[in-house]
Amino acid sequence: MFKLYNTLTRQVEEFQPLTDNTVRMYICGPTVYDFAHIGNFRTFLFGDLLRRYLKYKGYKVHHVMNITDVDDKIIQRAVALKMTLREYTDQYTDLFFQDFDALGAERPEEVLRATDHINEMVEIVQRLTANGHAYESEGSTYFRINSFPTYGRLSNMNFEGNVAGASERVDADEYDKESVRDFVLWKAAKPDEPSWETTIGTGRPGWHIECSAMSMKALGETFDIHAGGIDLVFPHHENEIAQSEGATGKSFVKYWVHSEFLLAEGQKMSKKLGNFYVVRDLIEQGHTPRAIRYLLLSAQHLKQFNFTMDGLKGAETVVARLNDFKVRLHELTPEAGETAALGELVWRTRKDFETALDDDLNVPAALGALHDFVRETNSAIAASTIKASDQKALIELVDCIDSVFGIFGELKKGFLDADIQALIDERQAARKAKNFARSDEIRNQLTEMGIVLEDTKEGVRWKRK
Ligand code: AMP
Ligand code: ZN
Repeated sequence: MFKLYNTLTRQVEEFQPLTDNTVRMYICGPTVYDFAHIGNFRTFLFGDLLRRYLKYKGYKVHHVMNITDVDDKIIQRAVALKMTLREYTDQYTDLFFQDFDALGAERPEEVLRATDHINEMVEIVQRLTANGHAYESEGSTYFRINSFPTYGRLSNMNFEGNVAGASERVDADEYDKESVRDFVLWKAAKPDEPSWETTIGTGRPGWHIECSAMSMKALGETFDIHAGGIDLVFPHHENEIAQSEGATGKSFVKYWVHSEFLLAEGQKMSKKLGNFYVVRDLIEQGHTPRAIRYLLLSAQHLKQFNFTMDGLKGAETVVARLNDFKVRLHELTPEAGETAALGELVWRTRKDFETALDDDLNVPAALGALHDFVRETNSAIAASTIKASDQKALIELVDCIDSVFGIFGELKKGFLDADIQALIDERQAARKAKNFARSDEIRNQLTEMGIVLEDTKEGVRWKRK
């Protein structure tokens, strides 16, 4: 049974989807004002792990992610560069997905942009105004927190007294509210800022309303999982609950799942502190996306994790070893048969891997099971005890585990001994035919694969670097 910590109930709960076998899941996406940093990607890779493990467990997953493409920073920068919001945010959305793909994250079933859903947001604001949860003041519309008695349930905060300013994302320029706690749903237009003409006035949406609107549009008024980084619990997710449940009168989300911060030098990695790293810079410095992925996934999501360059170097060694292991396993040409010991190893590893991830995605324990498995299989390779059916079962297990972790890497075409020999033979033939362009091309290809050629009297010999 898969168990997950639910921020709402403050308990580890057995996961049971609301309906049939499909999991409806919404994960708050990036604000595309600049490059995302690897702290952001810790949260998105956690979402990827959750998604992949749900699929591993046999669920069909409908995963939705938003792109926040209108906010103060975006507007400031786009206006300064004399670009439209769309032009400005398109470039950072593309760059975001380049890094997202490089890190091996699976694309969600739906990616929705906030500015494509203004009508849906307006509709919720109208419903909230009609039923007394919202009010208009000076062209803006606010949520009336006093009208929603369970406000604060998710973040477990005591809202006696004034808490404005509890988050850096609370707007500073809202003097027109009935209560200082009330938050903005719709902001009146300001001169020189992009705005939308709607039935609730000319303006632009507040940040929280976009996620209520897009999640309910794509997944229905009640759905299974809503996730994001821990800093979204308050005020973002608290406000989403108030808006959605205030509008529909129904329970919004069953499981609220949050992942902890990535730190650097002991502090939350953030643009503000400047202690951040960007995926493409790390790749340019020669780090592999797979090592970054491994490192960002390696801690349990409720634990803070401190990023260091030494940690990344360590991850590099681990993923290289995992890839070598996979290649070696594929290269074996054993005789027919199977052995009881290896059958037991496969069975035990699968069980330990699932037990660990069933336990609130305990990644360190699951990786522990994987590393034990690699060590024991390496011993079996060294002792030549692996038979053909064992090899098949071992490869299947690696693929199965990797459907969740995505850390082994590909068996590059030409990586097997036979493929390398075929390339060398083709190069020899090309040289004989004086087709030096082709022979050089093959030589370069082999160099890239880490293959060193040596001309000897007996012909061309090769070895791996
Ligand atoms: P943003 O683009 O600022 O809306 O953030 C995107 C996601 O990254 C949100 O889910 C944040 O909670 C998350 N996030 C921001 N900083 C960190 C960090 N240092 N570690 C982990 N997640 C983070
Ligand atoms: Zn959100």
